Amino acid sequence: MVLPSAEDLADLVFKEFRQLPKTGKPTTNEWTILSAIVMHDTAKGTSKVVAIGCGTKCVGKSKLCSHGLILNDSHAEVLARRALLRYIYHLLKRVIEYSDEGVFQWDSENVCFRIRPDLNFHFVSTQTPCGDACIRNEAIEEKSTKEEHIINDEPTQPKLKKRKINKENDENEDCAPNGDDNVGALLEPSPNDAVYTGAKLIGLTDQQDAMEQKIGAVRTKPGRGDRTLSMSCSDKLARWNVFGMQGALLDILLAHPIYFETLNFVGCAENEAAIRRAIYDRFIGKQFKTTKYKIHKPTIRFAETVKFEYAENYNRKNPAPTGISWCNIPIDLKPYEISVNGNKQGATRKKFGTPEAAVKISKYNLLQEFVDILRVEPKLRQKYRIDSKELTYLKYHQYKQLAREYQAAWTLAKQNYFSQWTEKPPNLLEFSLDA
Ligand SMILES: [Zn+2]
Repeated sequence: MVLPSAEDLADLVFKEFRQLPKTGKPTTNEWTILSAIVMHDTAKGTSKVVAIGCGTKCVGKSKLCSHGLILNDSHAEVLARRALLRYIYHLLKRVIEYSDEGVFQWDSENVCFRIRPDLNFHFVSTQTPCGDACIRNEAIEEKSTKEEHIINDEPTQPKLKKRKINKENDENEDCAPNGDDNVGALLEPSPNDAVYTGAKLIGLTDQQDAMEQKIGAVRTKPGRGDRTLSMSCSDKLARWNVFGMQGALLDILLAHPIYFETLNFVGCAENEAAIRRAIYDRFIGKQFKTTKYKIHKPTIRFAETVKFEYAENYNRKNPAPTGISWCNIPIDLKPYEISVNGNKQGATRKKFGTPEAAVKISKYNLLQEFVDILRVEPKLRQKYRIDSKELTYLKYHQYKQLAREYQAAWTLAKQNYFSQWTEKPPNLLEFSLDA
């Protein structure tokens, strides 16, 4: 059976998105970015949308939550991936409780779950990921705006103009991927004209400019005001492309990492080379050897004939303040979630920083899902020598350390492949479900 085209996948995703409630979606003058994950059954030739994320925001360093209750990063790509994790946990629970092995199967010999070999995953997104993928390595035309200034050309740098970001005391950190949300009124709206990233370089001296459009570099997310600790989506996609999108906790439960077979972008074809560079080309030749994780080379495709109805344009000038996530689980489990500044929409200020204000895709609640699997599967507890009484006391970072191969490979990768990746302060990973 043939894999659906990028257009077909995007159509499928937009159809699913239209069926979601109107609450939380952008208003008439707001735009957003949508990312989604489609699962394709190669045996049956069927595809289904399993996770959707919409959003453009990222909370600053000062607002990070030490209990894993607030979403740091609400860019669409990241929300879609977190929604996928929620979907996977749901399926793993079904394997244990109902022996439903439609997607994952229990391997009792190796005490882990295996995905059915004829299933694979595809990523769909309506914009070029922020960070490295946004920088085209070519000279570009000058845009007439009084706010831009020219970067000194260096032989190894692409010849680029950049737009100056207003950094003055701005509480609300808009993280439009191309960083131009605050000067949008001065420029022709051109969401796919991604020749500039507002994402910031890391590890600089005082003389260096965090906004320099150096190609191939890792960056933190764009945003006004305080730097965020979240890496750009280009960097996160690159990481998932080596370690899989399941992350450390699910890596403990799964036999193999899960990779995207294809990355599909709506429009953005002019950024093809930059996207490929950001996802894997920039790391080719850097030493990185492990048996379990491999640098994956997904097929990168473009859907040119479809349009996302909430994309940035003349009428939709403001980035939507909401983050949306959805995964393909039964409606009584509330698959559709809306967040504002990383908290559940509608949560009162009083509830901020409590589990009641936390969305299901927060670190805290995904840890809860992970622990629930250990609670119902004694063989896993035996394998990792965890007593059921300890389950709620163990800290998030202690659980992550159970993924030994993953952690060892990550340490290795950081020496070369992902050097300068930001580390969250340890106190942000010290929470337990008990706290
Ligand atoms: Zn992003």
